[in-house]
Amino acid sequence: MPDVNSTSPAPVFGEGQYDAIIIGAGFAGLYQLHCLRNRLGLKARVLEAADGIGGTWYWNRYPGARCDSESHSYCYSFSDELIRDWEWSERYPEHPEIRRYLDFVADRFDLKRDIQLGTRVAGASFDAATSRWTVTTEAGETFSAQFLITAVGCLSSANVPKIPGLEDFRGDWYHTGEWPHEGVDFAGKRVGQIGTGSTGIQAAPVIASQAAHLTVFQRTPNYSVPAHNAPLTQAFKDQVKSGYADIRRTMHATTNGHPFTIDDRSVFDVSPEERTEIYEKAWAKGGLQFRANFRDITTSLEANATAAEFIKDKIRAIVKDPETAAKLADIDHPYAAKRPPIDSFYFETFNRENVELADIRADPIERITQTGIRLQSGKEYPLDILVFATGFDAMTGPFLRMDIRGRDGLTLGEAWEAGPRTYLGLNVKGFPNLFTITGPGSPSVLCNMPVPIEQHAEWIAGCIAHMRKNDIATIEATEEATEAWAAEVNRAAEATLLPQASSSWYLGANVPGKPRVFMPYAGGMAKYRGICDEVAAEGYKGFELGKVAAHA
Ligand code: NAP
Repeated sequence: MPDVNSTSPAPVFGEGQYDAIIIGAGFAGLYQLHCLRNRLGLKARVLEAADGIGGTWYWNRYPGARCDSESHSYCYSFSDELIRDWEWSERYPEHPEIRRYLDFVADRFDLKRDIQLGTRVAGASFDAATSRWTVTTEAGETFSAQFLITAVGCLSSANVPKIPGLEDFRGDWYHTGEWPHEGVDFAGKRVGQIGTGSTGIQAAPVIASQAAHLTVFQRTPNYSVPAHNAPLTQAFKDQVKSGYADIRRTMHATTNGHPFTIDDRSVFDVSPEERTEIYEKAWAKGGLQFRANFRDITTSLEANATAAEFIKDKIRAIVKDPETAAKLADIDHPYAAKRPPIDSFYFETFNRENVELADIRADPIERITQTGIRLQSGKEYPLDILVFATGFDAMTGPFLRMDIRGRDGLTLGEAWEAGPRTYLGLNVKGFPNLFTITGPGSPSVLCNMPVPIEQHAEWIAGCIAHMRKNDIATIEATEEATEAWAAEVNRAAEATLLPQASSSWYLGANVPGKPRVFMPYAGGMAKYRGICDEVAAEGYKGFELGKVAAHA
């Protein structure tokens, strides 16, 4: 990793002129600003559409929204002081606590003065003559910067499916990813929830506990393992603080950036009895760690089936009505081939008198009516509130809703017509000096997000420091490196069971018309970090470095 503390003198600026514009004030944007401004001394500005910082946690305030990564790992790890001074209250942090944490970080590093809220970026275009980006906002402001850094998140473009009739619905409807800050009063209401991904699985138990009635419209049944959320004990908090160096080392050494390692044994190294015992213990412990029980759960169908069957048995044991249990357990993809949810009493929720499961794979939604949902069979569900837990136009959506134009006016939409193409998920050919934090082609969503975010922000800062030191004005991926990286992303995905979940958002399959390309890099965070370090150490191999005058 190059020295992020070395830099050449900053140029003189006019109004709206920056070294770097960063889009987004979530985990990524905040840390990128810290790296560039506080460490490199650059003039940087964060533009954020929301009226507050927090990124995904600003928008996702739906009932039950909490992080699936354990709190002691879902945080920045770059500062020992932060680790010392911040205290999480629960095993999995709830959304307000994460916002409080990010606010604390922003204050600690004096970030807010360079974050412009309520500013949605409409587009950006690269001028080859000056090697600078012009960024325009929806309000008509313009900014100029040598570097454009997107910190827009992977899951920030809400996907409201085009189900006929929504405009006729006389009740209220909400998407979980754009939840009203004042909350929603479900008391006495008949609620319909569409979607049973990680979000729906978190929301349903809470909505059910508040509403008169909840119907969960399930298209694809899903696995889930109990979260077993609980307040953290003082002993655990102390242990985390005193042993953080080891925790950080583990997070950096593992595939998914979590604070636990994947067991090296195969499912078939142990007897069926021992395996069941291991699964039982993991079920009792709860969390995403379940998939780390054996090394081949995520790579071998045969091995995976043992975990899948264990979870399906649990569903059938928890859910009392056999017909409902059968519908919930009729899962068509390998365990963890889609992002594995964890839950707090999701399957138990279907034992409540006021909860019903509608199987819309067997009987699809025909339309939304003025008063509810009608299925193709003609069955009607009268509803007062409709909740779309229908996910996101993931990974590419947040980019493509902006008009980003690179060399010769090439739009990102054109460059990605057949699916996203990047080098390391960090840069796109034709778009010099554009850095995409956790962009498509990087490990991102397959990881505990703060880990890839920190790695990206530090790598980008190191790259900019190198450019400044060596009078390099532009950096741009080569076609050859882009091709080779696309092949590596495909190879890494094919080595796992991930592409086998055909309706997964990893493949873009949840958005009609979106190209089917496996978007995240499945080779593991530790391997990816090594590749990025090697690229930097070898003089940014795979990038073309341009030596023209940079500063306007
Ligand atoms: P998701 O995983 O994409 O799930 C969307 C759900 O909506 C699926 O059940 C999907 O069914 C259904 N759906 C979509 N369009 C539909 C339609 N037209 N008709 C009927 N059903 C439809 O979205 P998500 O649950 O919001 O989760 C997205 C990602 O966000 C997660 O995978 C995770 O990475 C992240 N997340 C993290 C946390 C956390 O850490 N706590 C919490 C929530 C989400 P099909 O499967 O049939 O398409």
